[in-house]
Amino acid sequence: MPELPEVETTKLGLTPLIVDQVVQRAHLYRDNLRWDIPKHLVTTLASQSVNSINRRGKYLLIEFKVGTLIIHLGMSGSIKVVKSDTPLQKHDHFELSFANNTVMRLNDPRRFGAVLFSQDGSHPLLDNLGPEPLGDIFDETYLYIRSRKKQQNIKAFIMDSKVVVGVGNIYACESLFMAGINPQCKAGSVSKKSYQLLTLCIKDILTKAIKAGGTTLQDFSQVDGTPGYFAQTLSVYGRENESCSTCNGKIVRITQNQRSTFYCSTCQT
Ligand SMILES: [Zn+2]
Repeated sequence: MPELPEVETTKLGLTPLIVDQVVQRAHLYRDNLRWDIPKHLVTTLASQSVNSINRRGKYLLIEFKVGTLIIHLGMSGSIKVVKSDTPLQKHDHFELSFANNTVMRLNDPRRFGAVLFSQDGSHPLLDNLGPEPLGDIFDETYLYIRSRKKQQNIKAFIMDSKVVVGVGNIYACESLFMAGINPQCKAGSVSKKSYQLLTLCIKDILTKAIKAGGTTLQDFSQVDGTPGYFAQTLSVYGRENESCSTCNGKIVRITQNQRSTFYCSTCQT
């Protein structure tokens, strides 16, 4: 699943390819993904130039003078920019064609992604998002205050997009391992010192993943959607029954909030 680093590398890859380009038209190859794709985009975006691309959590925000195109990659989405005579691929659902004979295509086999539009840049999906994990607001004081009296487990807490955006299952497991925190701890009982380590680990892991994705992108002239985490070595995620790299104990898998959690019960207390 594309997580924050993949969305950030997509943003970085798209920026030189589509910013300042003029849209000829938007093509909707189906009516809906997770939600309906606004039909008016065909006329609204015609002849508009792309001002900038931003990211909020896992949402890509493509800014035009007339408003913001909001794209979410869902479970399986990826974006490519290719020459306009490139044949459509299966699962290409949305496209912006540009005056410079390139097209930006959203491919999404499982169709949990989204293409939405906001005239003023605000949207109910964006309004209640917590701070960015790589921003200054996200630190131990913020997490400590936010977590007091919380009975939920620490993993669910840091995966809650109202607390902080973009910490998906893989990065939650990996950062809790790196910080030595048991994922079953109650968020409200984690010390400020542990939160300090955890915020540093989250920032470190996400930054490395973005760099890995960036390296991948440099090898291609196009945004290719390769998830950055494939380039990263994962310490616990997906490694049930394998040896812990630190203590040689066995990595276990448990289920928390309907998601798999991988951790080392020796290193993470
Ligand atoms: Zn261990």
